[in-house]
Amino acid sequence: MKVDKISDNVWKFTGTDHVNIYYIDAGDDKIIIDAGNRADRQQLLTLLGNLIDLREIDIVIFTHLHYDHIGNFDIFPNAQFYASAKEIADYNHKREEAVLNPSIVDKFSVDLKPLPERIGPLDVVEVPGHTAGSVCLMYPEKKILFSGDTMFSKKQLGRTDLPTSAPGKLNDSLIKLLDYDFKTLAPGHDY
Ligand SMILES: [Zn+2]
Repeated sequence: MKVDKISDNVWKFTGTDHVNIYYIDAGDDKIIIDAGNRADRQQLLTLLGNLIDLREIDIVIFTHLHYDHIGNFDIFPNAQFYASAKEIADYNHKREEAVLNPSIVDKFSVDLKPLPERIGPLDVVEVPGHTAGSVCLMYPEKKILFSGDTMFSKKQLGRTDLPTSAPGKLNDSLIKLLDYDFKTLAPGHDY
């Protein structure tokens, strides 16, 4: 696992399958975006633990609920966990299809809250496509767009052929993202 500081208060952790986890120190709000692959647990505990006492993380946002974005949910004992209302509904309706990994489905036991329009310093952007409940998070002050699996760093897009995907909506979601003035793209995977 590798750590990069992508802004004065934002760190990126890249692990197995090039999956990215982000930590934002926004003053009173200590925020995690996506919780990565479970295989990276020990390294994440060490590397993130060097930056912050994990008990201080109060907000964990999932861009969507695929297993490689939620795997280490349980290292944040005092956090509230958020995903979009649509993503939560799909998860409640068909867990295995929403998570894509039976062993993570069995472990995953958090009280998911629906994302408000704005959370801490972040604007929530609903971008159905990769999953019907996918979100991006825009950090206007730093001009960073956290894009989950909607859009990757090498201008590639996420898959839309998965069980909870909404392929017919991706185009509108990408057009919506053009309205956001970001200088840094912070994707869910470094592909
Ligand atoms: Zn995904």
